[in-house]
Amino acid sequence: MKLENRIALITGGGRGIGRAIALAFARDGARVVLAARTAQQVEETAAEIGNEGIALPVVCDVSDVDSVQLMFARVSAKFGRGPDILVNNAGIAESAPLAKTDDDLWQRHLAINLSGTFYCTRAAVPAMLERGWGRVINVASIAGKTGAPYISAYSASKHGVLGLTRSTALEVAAKGITVNAICPGYVDTDMTTRGVENVTAKTGRSADQALEAIKKMSPQNRLITVEEIAALALLLASEEGRGINGQAINIDGGSVLF
Ligand code: NDP
Repeated sequence: MKLENRIALITGGGRGIGRAIALAFARDGARVVLAARTAQQVEETAAEIGNEGIALPVVCDVSDVDSVQLMFARVSAKFGRGPDILVNNAGIAESAPLAKTDDDLWQRHLAINLSGTFYCTRAAVPAMLERGWGRVINVASIAGKTGAPYISAYSASKHGVLGLTRSTALEVAAKGITVNAICPGYVDTDMTTRGVENVTAKTGRSADQALEAIKKMSPQNRLITVEEIAALALLLASEEGRGINGQAINIDGGSVLF
């Protein structure tokens, strides 16, 4: 049990990558907090984990600083302290050509993907510093390292997450805390399904053709599974991962080599 006695807060824990990380962490002994805006999904994931003392579903909008503060207060009230492990996974991905990227789309990406990660990290780190142990794992993207057409807002927000990751990692490096980012390529989740639907609607290609084109972006010609992301998150969260700090680790079949 790699995470026994650990409390892990996973944003976006109701579905997709966050849900898989929550299930994996709970299997390895952690008590998990699942946070998202959709109550039903976090409640269902908590129920799946099973034991009420082990999983806490919380409705939270990470782009709202007051909502983040309330969430941390609920974690402390339930478990008597803040999280040992924070997984900033909540995120959105919408595409548009630059000229059609309106202010709302731009602000939404920065608010959720970047400011949400900042608000949660700022709320979590002081208690980690006091305890001399902590893990922050940011689910970024290979779009945080490189660019692609029609995703300027998403890509800019994820580049920001990597800057936040690297600077925070160096600030806390000597205090028993590590801060890392996971940079997936396309993962088999609702987010990718919505991307396929978008390509289909805009190009007239069939869903199968759109999915094949997405798979081909990886030299492995496939989507990454949520379990693969969860396994990497588990390593970063565990004691064995303590030497890995300030990294942005690609898990994309080799499409980005830096
Ligand atoms: P999903 O859309 O399946 O899940 C996203 C999760 O984030 C949901 O639980 C959602 O819940 C939550 N979320 C979104 N906005 C907010 C918010 N404002 N406050 C709290 N929770 C929020 O996506 P994935 O599981 O695929 O993605 C997870 C992360 O992985 C994202 O950061 C994404 O950018 C990243 N990623 C995904 C890739 C992919 O191919 N799928 C590739 C690279 C990176 P709710 O809507 O109920 O709030």
